Amino acid sequence: MNLFSDFPMREELTRAISDLGFETPTPIQQKVIPTLLAEPIDIIGLAQTGTGKTAAYGLPLLHHVDVSLKHVQCLVLSPTRELCMQIQEEMTKYGAHMRGLRVTAVYGGVPIIGQMREVRSNPQVIVATPGRLIDLLERKALSLEHLQYVVLDEADEMLNMGFREDIDLILKNTPAREHTWLFSATMSNEVRGIAKRFMKDWKEFSVAAANTTNENIDHQYYVANHHNRFETLRRLLDFTPGIYGIIFTRTKQDAQEVSEKLMKMGYPTSPLHGDMDQKMRSKVMERFKSKALQCIVATDVAARGIDVNDITHVINYELPDDPEVYTHRSGRTARAGKSGICMSIVSPKQISNIRQIERLVKQKFHKSDIPDGAEIVRKKMFFYMEQIATAEPKADFAKLYTDLIHDQFADVDKDELIRKLIWLQLKDTIEVYQHTEDLNAGYDNKGGGDKSSRGNRYVRMFINLGEKDGLNAQKLIQFIVESTDVEPNTIDRVTVRDMSSYFNVPGDAAEYMIEHLSSKKFKGRKVRLDEAEQRTGGPGGGGGDFRGGRPKPQGARYSGDVRAYGGGGGGRESSGGYKGKKK
Ligand code: AMP
Repeated sequence: MNLFSDFPMREELTRAISDLGFETPTPIQQKVIPTLLAEPIDIIGLAQTGTGKTAAYGLPLLHHVDVSLKHVQCLVLSPTRELCMQIQEEMTKYGAHMRGLRVTAVYGGVPIIGQMREVRSNPQVIVATPGRLIDLLERKALSLEHLQYVVLDEADEMLNMGFREDIDLILKNTPAREHTWLFSATMSNEVRGIAKRFMKDWKEFSVAAANTTNENIDHQYYVANHHNRFETLRRLLDFTPGIYGIIFTRTKQDAQEVSEKLMKMGYPTSPLHGDMDQKMRSKVMERFKSKALQCIVATDVAARGIDVNDITHVINYELPDDPEVYTHRSGRTARAGKSGICMSIVSPKQISNIRQIERLVKQKFHKSDIPDGAEIVRKKMFFYMEQIATAEPKADFAKLYTDLIHDQFADVDKDELIRKLIWLQLKDTIEVYQHTEDLNAGYDNKGGGDKSSRGNRYVRMFINLGEKDGLNAQKLIQFIVESTDVEPNTIDRVTVRDMSSYFNVPGDAAEYMIEHLSSKKFKGRKVRLDEAEQRTGGPGGGGGDFRGGRPKPQGARYSGDVRAYGGGGGGRESSGGYKGKKK
């Protein structure tokens, strides 16, 4: 494997890459950069956003630029303004030590006058959307007469957006063009068509699409009837208090409406769609990047090119029609080696679409339960408790206020004080979820497990392992399969919680699994497996857990005491034993 320092690149670029902290080139960079540095032939790179493709073409492009010449030498065409801005930002970082280098971005949605001024100041590199570039060419604000390198970034998306004629027109007006580098997530006949019309003897490089084989994504789906979609979204958000995510809708109108409803309810979200002007969209992105917003509600087009690496969740408010679009969406999470969750809210009829996507991404999706009110309150309670436990008040805060706080609460019992603090945080949630119905579509609410279409009774199982043990549904299934030798498809409806998980197995497999798993250890800790139903009567109960396939209706109701949500005993969380045993 090559290091960046092995590439025969101009020193200014190597230095910039080192400033940025890039150590090893990504697979597409490994393949493309040495070729394009040595001999800039025509190439097609099949790679998606998140694979490092911008640097794969950007570094060789800058390597070949002659900064002493004051005319446009390189053009990068990209489908959206967001992507244009990001490419410009990236290229400017790579070229930070190249004195005299100018990289300008031009895109629609902002007044053209300012951009006319910018392109007249002789940048060597222009990043453009096709429409705005043609506009500038028609106004004779810039000339492509000396253009040597053209990069078509996200070519498939430009074609999807109807830019074919614009691309043709631009490429026909580049008399000095020597090399064309085409990047695309997918290879269609139309993409190949561009290559055939405008490229010569090209070489193809492809890397496994980042998000179709990304095993760090846990794909989950939640089955709800159409009219419960928004309420389901709300519960999923409440159930993931630390979320930093993107919620995808199909239409701009939905993005606006869903976001407005959430904002009214106090969620730090904002819409992002094509009906918003550029200034508003940039502002939203700024707030999202600075984490002033926890979520954005976006359409596919507006979200293209959002370059944020630590997205924890992608939520499909509705599944896209095209399974390929699903992979683009889910690929927004689990980037740069991190793991992430992609949740889809589907109606019972759309389960067949899930199967279709499963085949495309070659990963099994996990059917998960829409949490009930009790679970949500319980989850939030642990979230706040952890926040309190890990908070580190600044030294000057402590100095200023310690005495004041002590005087005020000197006579209050510590437990009571903590209860009050948590109550303040939770009372709105408790209020909202006081009387909640089961939103999972297609199940009876009588408890006792659901039945498969074959009439085989399924049993809901509890296991004392969860997210805190580094598990997601996939990893849990893997552990169970390896420990018991059962077929992976005997395990269904896996719901991984913080410190425990639930799943369904056929009734006749339950006993066998309990027998085989209960003697096992996971990371040194003894595994406990039970039928979820049987835990109801166990010591301390652990209210709010799932029992017998669906939660008991009374478990979903607030009974006036926070302990009703499982803080009272039985659960690992309250035993105080977990922390010590972890790892
Ligand atoms: P891209 O696929 O070009 O959109 O890049 C995705 C993200 O990865 C960007 O934030 C880049 O700055 C970052 N990146 C690109 N190449 C590397 C690398 N070799 N090492 C670490 N980060 C990288």
